[in-house]
Amino acid sequence: MAHVSVPKYWKILPQKYRLVAGKCKECGHLNFPPRPICEKCSKTDTQEDVELKGRGKVYTFTIIGRGAAPPEFAKMQKKCGPYAIAVVELEEGQKINVQLTDCDPFEIKIGMPVTAVFRQIYEQESVIRYGLKFRPALKK
Ligand SMILES: [Zn+2]
Repeated sequence: MAHVSVPKYWKILPQKYRLVAGKCKECGHLNFPPRPICEKCSKTDTQEDVELKGRGKVYTFTIIGRGAAPPEFAKMQKKCGPYAIAVVELEEGQKINVQLTDCDPFEIKIGMPVTAVFRQIYEQESVIRYGLKFRPALKK
């Protein structure tokens, strides 16, 4: 994750707290995150905000071991040990890159159902950054 200055971070906060995609009124494609130009049909200003359910499954994942994390994650990693970064395929069909939490990274399996949670990501300039993570879905 690149360094994000505090004012910019707060500006982009609402998008980070809600799982919102831009649904294209022209072709129905869900752009996540919303962007000015539709990924699929390249039309501009055709997207409306759609809140995603935040449920999906693990499409693929990587375990980040000690020493391999970017500096802003080093403190957390020291506390929590290795963690997993996954590509989660949402029920809506989008694939997003997220960190998995509340689980042993060595027990993660491809196809495992996961749900969205908002968690502390890291601390920078004494501001605690929150963001989207996914955790294993509770068994019914
Ligand atoms: Zn489109």
